[in-house]
Amino acid sequence: MTFVKIDGKKIEVGKIICLLRSYRAHAEEMGNTVSEKPEFFLKPRTAIIHDGGEIIIPPESNDVHHEVELAVIIGRGGKNIPVENAMDHVLGYAVLIDVTARDLQAKAKKAGKPWAAAKGFDTFSPISDGLPVSKVSSPQNLGIWLKVNGEYRQKSCTGMMIYSVPEIISYISGIMSLEPGDIIATGTPEGVGQIVSGDVVEAGIECIGTIKVNVR
Ligand code: MG
Repeated sequence: MTFVKIDGKKIEVGKIICLLRSYRAHAEEMGNTVSEKPEFFLKPRTAIIHDGGEIIIPPESNDVHHEVELAVIIGRGGKNIPVENAMDHVLGYAVLIDVTARDLQAKAKKAGKPWAAAKGFDTFSPISDGLPVSKVSSPQNLGIWLKVNGEYRQKSCTGMMIYSVPEIISYISGIMSLEPGDIIATGTPEGVGQIVSGDVVEAGIECIGTIKVNVR
């Protein structure tokens, strides 16, 4: 079973929906503009690992990057969920690292091809234990950070996100039904960079949790 733990209980993970360009400073560092509507892609649940796990650098890539993100865990499914009711569908939050083979992604982008491979390798979705929504007063004003070998690489605030969690849920559910156990990774702030074999990656979101993984 592929799971995320909330309050000690294992929740089976469904699909992983990842936003892109949802923080202006990150869109800019990648030479992209932000879009008016949330844009997203899917990541396979087979990419999930947990605290203490290992990100494995695949032989296909020479440039694997870290992206720390606020993950929203869906508790109640739905279709066409109105913004006003969106929070009723949230079970909790966690810290997710959207590991990306940047060279494969750049190549795919340039060729106008999908980037599923660049995002979808096994071990490319480390996720922390989750915190129930009742214990997080607002997910939208929290410090978010990532360290490599003890040094800060990413340090921002979820308040810098362009879209709110309810807006994201409402928009996505208009396109694809959300189901219990689905995870929405809400995009990364600026400061993404390379990780290599031997690195220790630690990431956290204030009030929500932390995760520490090794790179092999
Ligand atoms: Mg990302």
